Amino acid sequence: MNGTDEEMTDTTDKYIKIKEKGRATKKRHSDMICRCYEVKVDSSRMSKAQRQAVSALFREAKWFRNAYIADMHNVTWKDKSVSVKAGEVSESREIKVLGSQIRQSIINEVKDSLKSLSALKKKGYKAGALRFRSVCNSVGLSQYRVTYDIDREHSAIRVQNIKKRFKVRGLDQIPEAAEIANSRFIRKASGLYFHITCFMPKEEKILPHKQVGIDFGIENNLVFSDGREPINISVPESRGTKLAAKRMNKALTHSGYKKSRKHFKRKAKLQRAYEKDNNRRKDLANKAVHEILSNYDFIAIQDEMIHNWHKGLFGRQVQHSALGVIKAELKKSSNVHVVSRNYPSTQICPMCGRLTKHPLNERSYTCDHCGYHHRSRDVKAAISILEEAVKEYMLSGTESSESRGGQTRYSRTVIYQYWSKVIACETGSSCFQA
Ligand SMILES: [Zn+2]
Repeated sequence: MNGTDEEMTDTTDKYIKIKEKGRATKKRHSDMICRCYEVKVDSSRMSKAQRQAVSALFREAKWFRNAYIADMHNVTWKDKSVSVKAGEVSESREIKVLGSQIRQSIINEVKDSLKSLSALKKKGYKAGALRFRSVCNSVGLSQYRVTYDIDREHSAIRVQNIKKRFKVRGLDQIPEAAEIANSRFIRKASGLYFHITCFMPKEEKILPHKQVGIDFGIENNLVFSDGREPINISVPESRGTKLAAKRMNKALTHSGYKKSRKHFKRKAKLQRAYEKDNNRRKDLANKAVHEILSNYDFIAIQDEMIHNWHKGLFGRQVQHSALGVIKAELKKSSNVHVVSRNYPSTQICPMCGRLTKHPLNERSYTCDHCGYHHRSRDVKAAISILEEAVKEYMLSGTESSESRGGQTRYSRTVIYQYWSKVIACETGSSCFQA
């Protein structure tokens, strides 16, 4: 009895220590920049045993996740075998490759998904139960040097319980000074990847004191309030993708179609083609976002439901434009100010503040009430978004910007100067009627 008591205090001590350490790490990371780097496994240098271990890893991750969802109270990360449903009966299968830390991270992921599902439910959205997976293509490697280790010298990565190291390409992207945190091991149609999260000391960037409003659109993807050339990103499906999709569809229409070896080959080819298109789109989106963030220090956008545009008339065009990615990336910056989606940016008049409806084909803006005219309705909308954001920024206390980035990035006086300039250059009276 005595022994177990001591053990108990030992484990609680250990638990407290782990918690304290975690808190300290979190605090240190809070004033660093977080970046994620993707490195690719050189598949030509993988041994047969390694290939088998990788497929076992993802297979066991799937088993474990499904077993945990099925029986949350009895399955723990300590289990060395799980019950797997094979046809009508369930049988016990041994876990050989999936390490204990990875099992823990799977449990945490399931818990997190449950939390977000219940949060959705509370908000009144339709949320179903957590589903079983038929395939698992990514596992979290939570602890650097335990679940995985990086060998820069040999450009290799070792994963817990897999004997040989993986030769990888792209480790040189990660700066020497970076503090390496967790990562994910990911299987895509084009190969195996590691997504490595790193923390780096913040570098002070000096940005020009320039403000801009951005209007998202379909004809012109990004329209700027300062009247510069709009940015358009359109990467339609490539010929290869179209051909692969056509082949797949044609095969599927045959009666009595069986999922043969050829089917999976066809499917992998299609997935690779989609991945390639997506990468090209993402690349252009990242370049656009970088350009915007390094040229302005006050950026206003509207929180538009780009997801809903997908469903509408312009689904294809929206899909090819990567607008969603651009918006999501911009929103992460503390220099970006988001205006509510209910703000009538296309209708409002910057002179008198009253609303005029314009049909979609009308490309210029004319106010019905005071006669204000702008050659482009999109540029006008971008100006309105910027003005609304400046107004909101002025009215809000310092807390909002402080809670976001730790320090106020934008001097309030500069904004004030801008705001008074806007008022002065207009009618001399206030732009907006309350
Ligand atoms: Zn007007």
